[in-house]
Amino acid sequence: MEEKYDLLIIGAGPAGLTAGIYASRAGLKVAIFEKSAPGGKMNNTHKIDNYPGMEGKAGWEYSHSFLEQAQNFGSKLIGGEVVSIDNLKSSNEKTIELSNEKKYFGKAIIIATGLKPKKLEVPGYDEYFGKGVSTCVVCDGAFYRNKNIAIIGGGNSATEESLFAAKFVNKAYIINYFSEFKAEKATLDKLATLDKIVPMHNYETLEILGENGKVNGLVVKNRITNKEETLDVQGVFTYVGWNPEIQFLKNNKLLDKNKMITIDLSTGETKIPGVFAAGDITPKKFRQVTVAASEGTVAALSAVNYINNLKI
Ligand SMILES: Cc1cc2nc3c(=O)[nH]c(=O)nc-3n(C[C@H](O)[C@H](O)[C@H](O)COP(=O)(O)OP(=O)(O)OC[C@H]3O[C@@H](n4cnc5c(N)ncnc54)[C@H](O)[C@@H]3O)c2cc1C
Repeated sequence: MEEKYDLLIIGAGPAGLTAGIYASRAGLKVAIFEKSAPGGKMNNTHKIDNYPGMEGKAGWEYSHSFLEQAQNFGSKLIGGEVVSIDNLKSSNEKTIELSNEKKYFGKAIIIATGLKPKKLEVPGYDEYFGKGVSTCVVCDGAFYRNKNIAIIGGGNSATEESLFAAKFVNKAYIINYFSEFKAEKATLDKLATLDKIVPMHNYETLEILGENGKVNGLVVKNRITNKEETLDVQGVFTYVGWNPEIQFLKNNKLLDKNKMITIDLSTGETKIPGVFAAGDITPKKFRQVTVAASEGTVAALSAVNYINNLKI
């Protein structure tokens, strides 16, 4: 069966859910499509300290409040992966198809699909992914209570998630390729007080080891001395960068050289009228919940304008 909406929003992270709040509150019939848990990367964050007015709540609590607010105003959440978008130039039949082949039609679309974790290109990563290798401490960390883990990366994600891991693991090595972390001072100050956290700067990861389908070690190399060592770890969590979630997009003209969706910053509109983008998926230096929510706002209000001006 075909379903028609005014606005189709792809992705129920903070950008998509904020867009849903604004657009449905403005009276549009809104569908929000989500292939995983509503809330997006907020679900991967144990605590968010820097969202104005809601200091220090768990990531899932933000997800819950954002979703509830969007639904209260009338947005409909539809579970499923968007695999293609078509008829983008049509003013009332822009089309979204889900992996179950169901199609949905709308007058405008907001793409708010965020980023997905990059793979670490070392032997053992694919073999042990889901068997000791993960990209989310908040989701999988509890399996490593009183065990040793390695967190690979040196940015905000790796360091923030190390703080969370310190609550239950025996020891967490942070394998940082560079000579210092590139992360917020508040996080680094807290990390420095924790004996369980072992920062290893200037280290490269060479291989993830395992036996009987489980991780049991990590081979690293000191980039200054070239000395290799094997760490006794049962879990490996990688935070080595992100790729845009754009598999469903056939029109490469919407993308910049990094495959991010370019928008007019004042409206959130892409090069195609009525197609907007918001959140981590657009080019920017700082990716935060506040930024995603603000771009979701701009895209939604622009979509409302666009739809109100259609002569159909
Ligand atoms: C570990 C970690 C800690 C962080 N800590 C903080 C913090 O403390 N403070 C802060 O402000 N920010 C933090 N951030 C950043 C913040 O979470 C992101 O900037 C924000 O979530 C981006 O929102 P978004 O809506 O653009 O994308 P996302 O949150 O990534 O949401 C996108 C959604 O789209 C869905 N999706 C993707 N493709 C499809 C598809 N084809 N079909 C259907 N659904 C799809 C995804 O499943 C996802 O739910 C952190 C991020 C991480 C990873």
